[in-house]
Amino acid sequence: MHVRTTCPYCGVGCGVLATPDGAGGAAISGDPDHPANFGRLCSKGSALGETISLEGRLLRPQIDGRDAPWEEAIGRVASAFSEAIAEHGPDSVAIYGSGQLLTEDYYVANKLMKGFIGSANIDTNSRLCMASTVAGHKRAFGSDTVPGSYEDLEAADLIVLVGSNLAWCHPVLYQRIAAAKAARPAMRVVNIDPRRTATSEIADLHLALAPGSDVALFNGLLAEIERRGALDARYFAQHVDGLPDALAAALSDDVTAPELSPSDLSAFFDLWISTEKVVTVFSQGVNQSTSGVDKVNAIINCHLATGRIGRPGMGPFSVTGQPNAMGGREVGGLSNMLASHLSLEDAAHREAVRAHWRAPAVASKPGLKAVDLFRACARGEIKALWVMSTNPAVSMPEADAVRDAISATPFVAVSDMFADTDTAKLADVLLPAAGWGEKSGTVTNSERRISRQRAFLPAPGEARPDWRIVCDVARAMGFGAAFDYQNPAAIFREHAALSAVAASLGGDFDIGGLAEIADETYQDLAPVRWPAPRVGRPTERFFADGGFFTPDRRARMIPVISKPFAEAATLDRPLRLNTGRARDHWHTMTRTGRTERLSRHIAEPFVEINPEYAARIGLRDAELARVESDAGAYVARVLVTPRTRVGEVFAPMHWTSRFASDGRIDAAVAAHVDPISGQPELKGAACSVAPFAPAWYGFAVGRGPVPPCLPADYWALAPAGAGWRAEVAGEKTPEDWAGFAAAVLGAEGEPVQVVDEARGLWRVAFLRDGRVTGALFASREPVALSRSAAVEALASGATPSEALSGAPKAGSFDPGAIVCSCFSVGVNQIQRAVLEGGLVTVDAVGAALSAGTNCGSCRPEIQALIDAAQSSAPKIAAE
Ligand code: SF4
Repeated sequence: MHVRTTCPYCGVGCGVLATPDGAGGAAISGDPDHPANFGRLCSKGSALGETISLEGRLLRPQIDGRDAPWEEAIGRVASAFSEAIAEHGPDSVAIYGSGQLLTEDYYVANKLMKGFIGSANIDTNSRLCMASTVAGHKRAFGSDTVPGSYEDLEAADLIVLVGSNLAWCHPVLYQRIAAAKAARPAMRVVNIDPRRTATSEIADLHLALAPGSDVALFNGLLAEIERRGALDARYFAQHVDGLPDALAAALSDDVTAPELSPSDLSAFFDLWISTEKVVTVFSQGVNQSTSGVDKVNAIINCHLATGRIGRPGMGPFSVTGQPNAMGGREVGGLSNMLASHLSLEDAAHREAVRAHWRAPAVASKPGLKAVDLFRACARGEIKALWVMSTNPAVSMPEADAVRDAISATPFVAVSDMFADTDTAKLADVLLPAAGWGEKSGTVTNSERRISRQRAFLPAPGEARPDWRIVCDVARAMGFGAAFDYQNPAAIFREHAALSAVAASLGGDFDIGGLAEIADETYQDLAPVRWPAPRVGRPTERFFADGGFFTPDRRARMIPVISKPFAEAATLDRPLRLNTGRARDHWHTMTRTGRTERLSRHIAEPFVEINPEYAARIGLRDAELARVESDAGAYVARVLVTPRTRVGEVFAPMHWTSRFASDGRIDAAVAAHVDPISGQPELKGAACSVAPFAPAWYGFAVGRGPVPPCLPADYWALAPAGAGWRAEVAGEKTPEDWAGFAAAVLGAEGEPVQVVDEARGLWRVAFLRDGRVTGALFASREPVALSRSAAVEALASGATPSEALSGAPKAGSFDPGAIVCSCFSVGVNQIQRAVLEGGLVTVDAVGAALSAGTNCGSCRPEIQALIDAAQSSAPKIAAE
């Protein structure tokens, strides 16, 4: 019997059917009735069943590295917080949470901090994700309101994707657009991104604008709207203020800043201005900037000026990175917000919240935003810190400094599923949290749709849901009466009732109609989009007829002007570092890094470099490079590709010290923030790139659990076959290869070696009880060998000579790097099918190989391979 729940990864918020197998696992499929995905799942969602094993789980509380009973752990957290507050005041403690938390978890954490501790020092990793959108919405609309819905993306005649690699970061939404475009070929898609991505495959026009020039581009559009007489005079006369100032700023901006050709620029302006039904989708490429809020408002200005908002198929549309970034916003889970979209600065709002919570007082000033919070830790101002469900020692900019700051904080509690994250290793007290599949509550997706996450497995060991851990600590701090919830439904009711209070004060967020929901109804709650008021009809879309949430109910166009990056490029740091996501990994890989399937697409940290610049500094594909900034460094595999512009490099955000020696890219990103939103500039650090130039490169396969690290100067680990695989490299050639290989592989037994000193090739396998237990392949050049064949050889019990050949078995074909994770179809298979079979469509490849026929996440890459075969252009290669 299946359980309906929601995917825990991106902000699309897909419905999932989970069918427990009775042995701790579950079969996973898309929920055909969920309005976010109608049965679709991407590669990450499809592999959810492979992430729920107990391997590596934290099963009991730990204090200073030893197992401890819950009562003692809770007491330790409560006393550390209470003592710090008594001695240094409420602002000496802080909580750092996550868009992974469920709304009910978030609600009680926010209530504890803002209402009972009396500080607003609760911020979350959503600060890194969409804080600029929140601030931009509030400046324009008076509220943090997403006006439209996913249906608008299908109803639009033009979709403009700005700073959004939707194909990899919101794959099911991308697939909905692709399906709509296939059904209605007249639909147009424009992709605005300095980098050519998988998303560009669907675009009729890709504008590879100069990084950071989005404000100039949309100011240029606004000026052109006015010049061509395309303003909606009725709409802005009735509903919008600020047009003259916004126009004046737009006209003064430098329209050449995006460095686009005049023909591309005018093609974009023509399309946007001549198409009534236009949705402008934006995400981290807009938000993660020191002018992120201005970028958001530059986009919104164009929609307000044309009245293209709140009607079917049109509007500005922010897509959130995390599964519950929106739910976090709804409960005030950022340090500058109150619950239910109420304002910390407004005395009436504070009093309404205080009364609802029966709290002694509500924090009266904003708390520390993420970057400032960890800087306060470094200065010794935070005496007790609680990190929930996130990994700031990896994901924060200046990650090394943040790691040191957490380390230096007198008391650190971490609630997590795993004890081996970079942040969990720094904790005084580790609190085992229930994970996806084990906890119940709600999440809100990017289109304001609240869905249930339902438990379908028992929590392992002594793990508890986050809401309960927070309430336990609150009780131990003496606030028991206000945290005496029996279940998440009780928390949800209180949250919904508070939203009705907020709505009565003029707010947008209103789910008062759910305030008296019974436990059974909450259990069965179908996905519902807010508002869901107690009285009156819910609104499908906001703002078609004005009704903004400003005091005069009119929107504001905000005058914005382009600003340079916080860090200027210099002779020493000539490149612009763009960071982002890979298709099959999620955040810091605490879950996706444990599955072989999701690690086969891209198994190692990489850096994309344009061919011209790579040639200039003597770097070739598959070599290693060191990316360095004034903040820190990152070492990764080089991917030479024209997808990245000259002067820029791209690196993924996922790798941690659990899976790579120097793969934490945010260590190399300085912590400059938007002055309004506090969101860090994660896509614009000034950096340099140089060859890492090791004495040797290697590839290793081993049996058993993935080891915690390897004794090499460079290493990157991933699960594979019967155990694990690793890319390795060293700055000094070992004198004893057999001894070195034994140390890398953790292998005992008899070594079998193939050595060719003249050609610089060394291969060592270990044999025990007649079975190969591990193999290391090393050479002076990057190791050219079929990774899948080496993994397969170990798993299938090959002989040492077969294992050391590094070649596929006779009669079999090396699939190459995996493109289709669902059916394990590799790049070589697709290329052969395209070339030999004369296949010219993704569907034809699907019919031949099944690739792209399940989750569809790889379809843009298959299209790119077809295009490359047809044009002989460089292909997308995964590794
Ligand atoms: Fe999960 Fe993929 Fe859906 Fe995002 S698009 S919610 S990662 S299944």
